[in-house]
Amino acid sequence: MTDFDFESRIVDIPDYPEPGVVFKDITPLFDDPEALRAVVDSVADHFANAGITKVVGAEARGFLVGAPVAYRLGCGFVPARKPGKLPREVFSQSYSLEYGTDEIQIHKDALTSEDRVLIVDDLVATGGTAIASAQLVEQSGAAVAGFAFILELSFLKPRHLIAEKYPQEVFSLVKVG
Ligand code: IMP
Repeated sequence: MTDFDFESRIVDIPDYPEPGVVFKDITPLFDDPEALRAVVDSVADHFANAGITKVVGAEARGFLVGAPVAYRLGCGFVPARKPGKLPREVFSQSYSLEYGTDEIQIHKDALTSEDRVLIVDDLVATGGTAIASAQLVEQSGAAVAGFAFILELSFLKPRHLIAEKYPQEVFSLVKVG
């Protein structure tokens, strides 16, 4: 594990996208080459011996973390996208938001029963997106091998929600709260 100071690069944006919400801006970890390398290497090194064959990342910031981690692990990357974005047959998974529901999809042929999949995203808040991503993996007949995030909002207890369905490892570079 690197001793890189990830937390100091994450910027709090009060009242964004709406009053009362403190948005965590992780883009400074991507525009700095040293930080980007530390993020990708830390996640990839942690799961280097976990037998991962595919990485799944949810739209959109999950793509930023997931694709380079997949490259480093020597495995493929599968995008989980909003409805209507993928051109071929898809599996769909809806999930609850604070107000209403959302849905993500992956191509039906992107994963096989042989795959061991790492779910990757920039940030885990409630855990809803990560669980929906894992459910897409299961719909494909593949196995969920673990979860990796840059930032975990611990005060929202995403680990508890994820653990209700998935006992696999949850790895976060930074925890707040
Ligand atoms: P969850 O489904 O509640 O765990 O929310 C996680 C998803 O929302 C991830 O895909 C994040 O990219 C996004 N998200 C939620 N809050 C923030 C934030 O403060 N900064 C960046 N992304 C966020």
